[in-house]
Amino acid sequence: LMQLAVPLNFIGFVYREIRQGLTDIEQMFDLLEVEAEVVDRPDAKDLVIGQGPEKGAIAFRDVQFSYDPARPILKGISFDVPAGKTVAIVGPSGAGKSTISRLLYRFYDIQGGSITIDGQDVRNVTQKSLRSAIGMVPQDTVLFNDTVVYNIRYGRPGASDTEVQAAAEIAQIDRFIKALPDGYETKVGERGLKLSGGEKQRVAIARTVLKSPPILILDEATSALDTTTEHEIQSALDLVSKNRTTLVIAHRLSTVINADEIIVLRDGQIAERGTHSGLLQQEGLYASMWNRQREATEAEEQLKKVREND
Ligand code: ATP
Repeated sequence: LMQLAVPLNFIGFVYREIRQGLTDIEQMFDLLEVEAEVVDRPDAKDLVIGQGPEKGAIAFRDVQFSYDPARPILKGISFDVPAGKTVAIVGPSGAGKSTISRLLYRFYDIQGGSITIDGQDVRNVTQKSLRSAIGMVPQDTVLFNDTVVYNIRYGRPGASDTEVQAAAEIAQIDRFIKALPDGYETKVGERGLKLSGGEKQRVAIARTVLKSPPILILDEATSALDTTTEHEIQSALDLVSKNRTTLVIAHRLSTVINADEIIVLRDGQIAERGTHSGLLQQEGLYASMWNRQREATEAEEQLKKVREND
């Protein structure tokens, strides 16, 4: 029996390694968010982004889109993100906010209207050039089963240790990493240290800082973050989005106060638009969402105080 146990053990080991390998590959595809549906046109050209600090102007014109023809998701959306500015999309759950970010990245093709970057339709450019111009900080970042430094360097594989650390500082995650048992060499991911949603998002921000793209899409985590983490992420983003065309898909309103324009989406249409103070004055959907969220935050803080005093 012992003679059999050793090879069986070995087979078990090989099986586990292969499974893990598959998981890594699945995660990589997740990370790259590979979509087979969209292909380059035969005559596709590389996207050309203007020079200087202000570049990468985005324009959505009467964009119509549905995942399933029976259920339209975006019903004629038009807005601009001028070069170097920040526009935030807010609205109730399921309104189509994240869909807008997926369409800019061209995970799907639209059924009507157009999406352009510096005047070039995203359908006419190579996907490679489009995606290298856009830095995406997704809702839920998938980390490789590798070290922290590897995960950050993924943004620009040639980056030096000093550059990785500088990016982590901007993303406000450097102090956290240094306090880990093995610092930057700490293993993270499924087989290593599990990071919280906010920590993962800051790793993703550091990655994006290294990539240094002219356009930034931030799809905020839906999950609630504590106030300190939220402030840290916010200040990291303020640094990263400076002089970059930024589209924020906001699930929490506290992060959009400083946006140049806020677009309020409801049922696939733009219900309201303006600045934070302008929208509050309108006393419409945004104002009521804001009040509701403020009450919820206040209630949470109260509860925390009560717990702390116990
Ligand atoms: P939330 O704030 O809850 O994240 P959202 O405004 O970002 O919502 P989207 O993720 O854009 O909403 O989704 C809009 C609608 O499209 C939803 O009703 C959703 O069920 C649907 N949807 C999203 N992704 C897909 C998909 N891959 N296939 C089919 N339907 C989808």
